Amino acid sequence: MDLSFTPDEIAFQNEVRAWMADNFPADLRTKVEAGEKLYKPDLLRWQKILAAKGWIAPAWPVEYGGPGWTPTQRYIYANEMALAGAPDLPAFGLKMVGPVIYTYGNEAQKAHFLPRILSGEDWWCQGYSEPGSGSDLASLKTKAVSDGDDYIVNGSKIWTTGAHDADWIFCLVRTDDTGKKQEGISFLLIDMKTPGIEVSPLIIINGDHTVNQVFFTDVRAPKKNLIGKENEGWTYAKFLLVNERNGIAQVGHKKHTLRRIRKLADKTDMNGGKLADEAGYQRRLAETEVALMALEYSELRFLSGQKTEHAPGTEANMMKVAATQLQQSMSELFIEIAGYYSFPYDGFRDTKGSNEPPVGPTEAGGAMFDFLYGRAATIYGGSNEIQRDVIAKVLLSI
Ligand SMILES: Cc1cc2nc3c(=O)[nH]c(=O)nc-3n(C[C@H](O)[C@H](O)[C@H](O)COP(=O)(O)OP(=O)(O)OC[C@H]3O[C@@H](n4cnc5c(N)ncnc54)[C@H](O)[C@@H]3O)c2cc1C
Repeated sequence: MDLSFTPDEIAFQNEVRAWMADNFPADLRTKVEAGEKLYKPDLLRWQKILAAKGWIAPAWPVEYGGPGWTPTQRYIYANEMALAGAPDLPAFGLKMVGPVIYTYGNEAQKAHFLPRILSGEDWWCQGYSEPGSGSDLASLKTKAVSDGDDYIVNGSKIWTTGAHDADWIFCLVRTDDTGKKQEGISFLLIDMKTPGIEVSPLIIINGDHTVNQVFFTDVRAPKKNLIGKENEGWTYAKFLLVNERNGIAQVGHKKHTLRRIRKLADKTDMNGGKLADEAGYQRRLAETEVALMALEYSELRFLSGQKTEHAPGTEANMMKVAATQLQQSMSELFIEIAGYYSFPYDGFRDTKGSNEPPVGPTEAGGAMFDFLYGRAATIYGGSNEIQRDVIAKVLLSI
């Protein structure tokens, strides 16, 4: 196992770093450093810059618009992006449905959808979960009934992140309910402008609108937008879930957050000195740094295995658990340090027309917002209880 980067990889790292310094817009950087919310126009602007450079879909095959990087280059790229404060773009098109389309879609679907995903022309959302079908996803009930060249879709999806911004939704729908529950599911792409779709916002604990419930009432969806074969959608759905869990460690973003925490502690007065010099803080910081280092080395080992014959297995499940737990403990440390400055949140100032400056040190911005949203990290992408079940079954045979 060799965990060090080659000279070529270090040159690539320098190239990404230099390009980011010149091309990541300063106003977006300022917003990220202050913990302000980025909206679709912000993200779309960044997407277009990356797309023009050809760096928008690191994992895609070259023939569909990927840059042809190795897994290690992709890791370096993701890290450098995060360390520079670049936001993640929504994964639904680029990391989820895009790979499903180029792997299982027909030529017409590839030609139509893939370029529009890369350019940001189409934004996607994920219609998997339903009221009553989350962890037990295959129990889903949203029904698609054949009617000539179309399906007629009825049912409801829930926790649909970004449905209010999306142009398309990829849905798991039930096309047969006679056999095993996994056998009658199909993977259908539906235009969000189709009559009969209603998007209802769900405001989560941090006061933000990110998730929704989506209702389908007699929605007519053309069969030409079915991926692969009818009733075989479960195969494509599982393929997508593996992609969803890949890259969940987000080591670069965690390093970036840690940098903000350190800056804040350096500034904060405490008992005539600075919080950064306080023994309790130093212990917590050291524990966090060790946990982050362990996560980083686990990911590098995982990558090192991908370069050899070792096939990725339960590592993705293990990293999902470790990474989300670390994310939550880091965000706890963050609000403890930000103290009462973590309560007022000015991250919506843009849209609320406020001209008041943020309350407290800039570095404290968004601490509580992220802490509260982060409660969901151990739930979405497959809850940690389920991940532990998989690890116990596959790795420990219990
Ligand atoms: C912020 C957020 C965004 C989301 N975005 C999307 C999205 O864009 N699209 C989408 O389709 N879905 C999305 N989800 C849904 C998410 O995938 C589900 O919430 C998740 O799969 C869990 O399902 P559930 O909420 O139905 O919980 P349940 O399945 O009802 O589980 C409740 C609890 O019981 C535990 N549990 C259930 N079964 C077992 C078992 N066999 N063994 C041990 N423990 C078990 C679970 O771990 C959990 O703690 C999102 C969720 C959140 C919170």
